[in-house]
Amino acid sequence: MDILVVLEEAQGSLHRLSKEAIVGAQELGGTVVALAIGKHCDQIASECSSFDLENVITVNHELVSTYNADGYSCIVKKVIETYSPKTIVAGHTYQTRDFIPRVSAALDIPFIPDIISFSDGNFVKQVLNAKLNAATSFSTDQVIMSFQSAAFSEENIIPGSCSAKAFNVNLDSNIVRSTSEDPFQEDAGDVDLESADLLVSVGRGIEKEENIPMAFELAKVLGAEVSASRPVVDSGWIDSFRQVGSSGSNVAPKLYFSLGISGAIQHVVGMKGAKAILAINKDKDAPIFEIADYAVVGDLLEIVPKLTEVLKNQ
Ligand SMILES: Cc1cc2nc3c(=O)[nH]c(=O)nc-3n(C[C@H](O)[C@H](O)[C@H](O)COP(=O)(O)OP(=O)(O)OC[C@H]3O[C@@H](n4cnc5c(N)ncnc54)[C@H](O)[C@@H]3O)c2cc1C
Repeated sequence: MDILVVLEEAQGSLHRLSKEAIVGAQELGGTVVALAIGKHCDQIASECSSFDLENVITVNHELVSTYNADGYSCIVKKVIETYSPKTIVAGHTYQTRDFIPRVSAALDIPFIPDIISFSDGNFVKQVLNAKLNAATSFSTDQVIMSFQSAAFSEENIIPGSCSAKAFNVNLDSNIVRSTSEDPFQEDAGDVDLESADLLVSVGRGIEKEENIPMAFELAKVLGAEVSASRPVVDSGWIDSFRQVGSSGSNVAPKLYFSLGISGAIQHVVGMKGAKAILAINKDKDAPIFEIADYAVVGDLLEIVPKLTEVLKNQ
């Protein structure tokens, strides 16, 4: 085996980031084997049965029927020791962040987290709040890496067929010293972004919380819902259920008004299904203009109030 993909389950199904990690592994090249742990491992293996993988190793043990860092790290470590994959990959999820560093430390294999792309042995990570990309390489025989959300598209999984293969482990109950609570669920709020026909979406270009009502006023005259990019949510200016992107909602409105949004990959992955995109940005080189159908280069703080006024008087 060249590459081991450590899979993750989300509500009994294969996690989206695990599908993306499979694409990343397939693009790396070589034989790819996946590992499914927990009480849903057979279901996960059957979801993977139509992918081009060597096989799916399943581990179903009472001590890891649900996620806990002690049990998972012990199992991944045993699988790596048994099969000696050159590369171990996973989606960069909270779970990966929780237990993969333990595997890395226990086996003394370097861990390159949060990779967005790779070429010619260089693995690219974002640094300084995603303002710069840094290339990382390694000189060890084995490496562990995790792929950032949306670094690869699950639509690009190479289809094929593979079977499941159970891996039997002896786990001592003493090793499991921690338990995990149920996965955190965001409050869905009373807004259904995913079926909205019109969205006015606010980015960091709105500059401050006091300017947020400007977006709601425009949305009101248009009969639209308001959504936002992550920095606006993280700043506490807008409720988290309004976030669009890889860690928010996937939306597909007829028209997406993008106000002061740069067009980072994690945002675009959640709104690229929009039928039409109108972007206002004062930077003519903003990446959002690469996918916008209508591009307005200008200051949203000047344009939006005027546009709202004009629409009100229609
Ligand atoms: C694991 C992970 C998950 C993530 N998930 C998400 C997610 O789900 N959703 C998400 O959105 N992001 C997500 N991000 C963050 C993402 O990488 C970007 O940082 C974020 O999308 C940038 O938001 P923004 O475009 O609002 O801000 P910025 O990138 O700061 O862009 C602001 C834009 O506003 C423009 N601007 C400034 N002032 C004005 C003005 N007066 N008028 C007009 N334009 C103006 C600027 O030119 C700039 O283009 C995630 C990041 C990571 C690492």
